[in-house]
Amino acid sequence: MGQADRLRVFFNSIKGKIFTLFLVAFLAACGLTLLNVWTLAAVRERLHLSERYDDLSSAILEARRYEKNLVIYGGGDNLREGMAYLDRAETALSDLGEDIARAAGPEALESFRRTLGQYRRDFAALSPGQEDGKDGARVSGKGLVDQAEELIALRRARIHKTIFEVSLVPFAYLAIFLVFMVILIRVIAASLLRPLGLVRNIAERVAKGDFSPVDDGGGRHIVEVAGLLEALDRMALELAANQEDLLQARKMAALGTLTAGVAHEINNPLNNIALSAESLIETHGDALDDEAREIAGDILAQADRAGEIVRNLLDFSRSEKARFSPLDPAVVVKSSAALFKNQLLLSGLELRLDLPPGLPAVAGSLRHLQQVFLNLLQNAAQATPPGGHITVAGRVDGGFVRLAVRDDGRGIAPENLDHIFEPFFTTKDVGQGTGLGLAVTYSIVKRHGGRIEVESEPGKGATFVVCLPKAGEPAARPDGDEAGGDLGDVAGEEADSRPGDRP
Ligand code: ADP
Repeated sequence: MGQADRLRVFFNSIKGKIFTLFLVAFLAACGLTLLNVWTLAAVRERLHLSERYDDLSSAILEARRYEKNLVIYGGGDNLREGMAYLDRAETALSDLGEDIARAAGPEALESFRRTLGQYRRDFAALSPGQEDGKDGARVSGKGLVDQAEELIALRRARIHKTIFEVSLVPFAYLAIFLVFMVILIRVIAASLLRPLGLVRNIAERVAKGDFSPVDDGGGRHIVEVAGLLEALDRMALELAANQEDLLQARKMAALGTLTAGVAHEINNPLNNIALSAESLIETHGDALDDEAREIAGDILAQADRAGEIVRNLLDFSRSEKARFSPLDPAVVVKSSAALFKNQLLLSGLELRLDLPPGLPAVAGSLRHLQQVFLNLLQNAAQATPPGGHITVAGRVDGGFVRLAVRDDGRGIAPENLDHIFEPFFTTKDVGQGTGLGLAVTYSIVKRHGGRIEVESEPGKGATFVVCLPKAGEPAARPDGDEAGGDLGDVAGEEADSRPGDRP
């Protein structure tokens, strides 16, 4: 991820948004401070100018004092001092020229200059006892004082106006800042509140049993919310899968209870039939003709077959936990394969074993686990044409050992996948299959705390994966997917495994 992407992700997170908020507040505080410095500088400059106005005014007043002294007492000192004050007034005026022109207009400046020049000339022409010059200086001097006072009054009014304006600026600034912050907070809150509403809707939908994927409105969400929505999506999917597991487990449990009841009821009459047929052959065999003996033999054979079915049914619905011992999975698979060798030869199939050395032991019953693999091998062989292959591959998956039986036969139609583990479900011809093989297999695997999954693409073969917990390991979830744990018994349980699980 590039630097720009990282920044984009950061600013799109709650942390980033809070950071932005603080940054804006900090910059605003900096702006306010700078504004204060600027207003203080402006006020200071105005005060400095107003001192210069005072200088101008007091220089003129001093000059007028010497004018009076000159008129009354005469003397070169008074003339010199008066002229010195007029020089000072001249300097102050040239300093203030720009400000006066700005505040009172260029004409006022020009007129003040003219009056000052006139007063200077009248002042220079003054000599004691000369009445004419005295009046001229008095008139121009008074005009000068009046104009200076006007300027000072104007100046003072401007200072008051400036102070008033400057005192308003922070309030205006705060108002703008407030509006900006309100907008920013609303935008951030919207980006948090909208997804929260979405989360509430999802929770309500899930509570009603609707587990369909989250529709996030196609909007871009802040990082944390996007993560939350993703987690909710996963949760809905898991809930949907678990719900299906639960239904399937309940269905199997009900079937288990039913078959156990039926099997028990049928077992006794079947035994009686077999015993009767046997004793008929043994005790009265000689008295029977060939046809009757053949019929009695048929009765015995069919009763045996029915007895085998009943045993399988009882196996499927068995609820007690057998005695388990640690078993090497390779030994389980190899011994099952050995029992199946002849049938493989007859079917013209090749069996490949891919069992890495050192597979951890599983806890189980050898006889039952052999039955599992015999059933799977038998089905694979029946589904695969001569020349085909069957593979049994083993590997470790978390706390489980996964043993996959794969064939390249005709595969299983999708509509049958959900039913193949049900007792009596078969697609084979009458006499070929009873539909009990996978039901018994499922029940045994569950009694071992494991799970069985199936994957199949019609025409390309089928794979049955048996996951058995490692010996001494508490059952965990293989691959983190939906099944696992000690699945216990078929009847009367609510296991979280789903037979016929498809990937
Ligand atoms: P049965 O073998 O007696 O029919 P099972 O319970 O063993 O009963 O199997 C149920 C059904 O599952 C079979 O009838 C068959 O349709 C299907 N099936 C099981 N294993 C395979 C396989 N390896 N390939 C194709 N179909 C299979």
